[in-house]
Amino acid sequence: MNCTSCNMHTTSASNFTKFKCPKCGASEIIRCKTCRDNSVLYKCEKCGFEGP
Ligand SMILES: [Zn+2]
Ligand SMILES: [Zn+2]
Repeated sequence: MNCTSCNMHTTSASNFTKFKCPKCGASEIIRCKTCRDNSVLYKCEKCGFEGP
């Protein structure tokens, strides 16, 4: 898995949060713990939605 925000790769699922895009629901957003803690913006690849 790669973090949507920083593109960091990991194999440990415990360090990552995965959820559907709150706007279109079609794309899965993956965020690492670092980005979540720092509230780094993510961007949906499908609809372009950006959010924390
Ligand atoms: Zn990240
Ligand atoms: Zn979306």
